[in-house]
This record gives sequence, structure tokens and C-alpha cells, in this order.
Amino acid sequence: MIIFKQPQKLSLYLDSLTKQHPIIGFVPTMGALHEGHISLLEQSNKESGLTVCSIFVNPTQFNDPKDYEKYPVSIEEDIYKIESAGTDILFLPDARAVYPDGTENLEQYRLGYLETVLEGKFRPGHFQGVCQVMSRLLKMVRPAKLFLGQKDYQQSLVIQQLLKTMNADTDLVVCPTVREAHGLAMSSRNRRLTDTERKIAGNIFKTLTYIKENLIAGELHSLKIEAKALLTQNGFTVDYVEIADAGNLSLADAWDGKQELVALAAVFSREIRLIDNMRISGQ
Ligand code: AMP
Repeated sequence: MIIFKQPQKLSLYLDSLTKQHPIIGFVPTMGALHEGHISLLEQSNKESGLTVCSIFVNPTQFNDPKDYEKYPVSIEEDIYKIESAGTDILFLPDARAVYPDGTENLEQYRLGYLETVLEGKFRPGHFQGVCQVMSRLLKMVRPAKLFLGQKDYQQSLVIQQLLKTMNADTDLVVCPTVREAHGLAMSSRNRRLTDTERKIAGNIFKTLTYIKENLIAGELHSLKIEAKALLTQNGFTVDYVEIADAGNLSLADAWDGKQELVALAAVFSREIRLIDNMRISGQ
């Protein structure tokens, strides 16, 4: 595995491979890796001739400074895991490499509806930061395929929109959420939970499963109320638990029995914010 820190050197190296025309697969991460990240690397290895993984904790996507300060870092362990997964290139830029002119007055993206609901609503500016970093990383790596996790459902829709805006020649591959045995979606933030909190956090998955199992055509209001009550009873502070159209995230108040839906939740366990989602109809 080769490690690059300078974007120019990475781009030059990737350019030098053009004769071999490898399909470049890209897995961007913020580090503190777990099996969810590794599954993306494995998928990229299957579908690409060369896999680039990046680790960069992007300051511009944290709307809560405390969340940024406390974001787990485990770089040595991460390098070992990435290399063990058979990754070809690790890109480890610092903030100056990604934002040479600083992070003030960065460009803004027109994200429309997606920025007004769910994560967009509860984390103002978050998706602007996601687009600011992703547009830069995509220009540096220019991958044929970009591998993202379903865990961040809304993020994958935002990035799909960004790829269109950028006119990028990159296919988006969204990979399934990897979960712990009791259902908790793996997340770097889980490291901040105590063992007891981690066990209790399995109830987020149980609640989404409850929604899926109790979904019937008609109004959805009471199902959402029940789901929120389940989460609250387990001690979570709930930002939202919602049912939305799987394609565009328009919130669904009723179901016709056919529309493809996704259930999404964001809760706090103590001050640690956890998100999860589940497709509840269709595939
Ligand atoms: P992060 O390091 O949290 O920014 O995540 C980097 C990538 O890994 C994103 O595409 C996430 O959606 C994906 N990811 C995070 N957690 C999981 C998971 N449990 N299963 C699958 N993919 C995940």
C-alpha cells in the first residue's frame, strides 16, 4: 500500500497509471475504522482495479464543535486495517492540503429540499461541508466508482446530486449497512458509548424493525408516534424518527401500499448522536 499526503503527488501517481487504465474505486472516510468501512473497501476491491481510501476528518461538516473535538482518531490501527483489506492507496491529507485557502467563505451548493429535512434540518450546514470536502476529494482522485454506505442514507442522495452538479464521470455504489450482533449500525461514534449504552443502542435497530413489521397501507402518523415512544422509553433524546420516500426523502404521512419507503432515525445517547435507517418496503 502506498500512502500519499499531498494531493498533487496522488494525482500525478494516478495519472501515471492511465496506460493500464485501472478502474479507480474510491472509499472516503473520516477514520476510526470499523467493519462498515472495511466492507466498502472489500466491495471496491471486487469492482475496481485499484482502490483508494482516504482518511480526513473534515472540519467543515461538523455543525457541533464538541462533536469535532471528540471525534475518535486511531490512525495507526486504521492504517493496519486498510492495508490488511488489500487497499492499494491510502490518501491522508491535512486540512491545508484540502483547503489551501482556509475554511472561511467556502463555496455553497444548491441542495434544495434535501438540505431542509432530517439531517439537513437538524445539522445546519452539515451537507454544505460534505459537498465542500467531497468535491475536492473527487477532483483529486477522479474515481470511476465511489463507494458509500447506506448508513448515511441522506448523504448518499446529496452526493448523488453533487456528482450530477459536477458532471462527474463517477458511478455511485451504495453498500449495505454493517451492524453489530444486536443490530446497532456500526459507527465510529459508537466508540464513545459505554458497554451498557451500546447494548441499549441496539433499540434503534429494533425500532426501525418495528416500523417495518407494522407498516400497513393508510396513515402513518400513529406508527411514527409509537416509534418515537419506543426510542424515548429507552432513554434516547429523539431528533427525529420519520418515514420518507426512498427516492427523494419526501416525508410520507400515508402509504399507498406501493411507494418505496425508508424509515430514518436520529437520536442522542447522552451527548452522542446516532443515526440509522432501514428500507421498509420494496426491495
Ligand atoms: P465516515 O467515516 O463515518 O464518514 O464513513 C465513511 C463511509 O463509511 C461513508 O460512506 C459511510 O456511509 C460508510 N459507513 C459508515 N458506517 C457504516 C456501516 N455501519 N456500514 C456500512 N457503511 C458504513
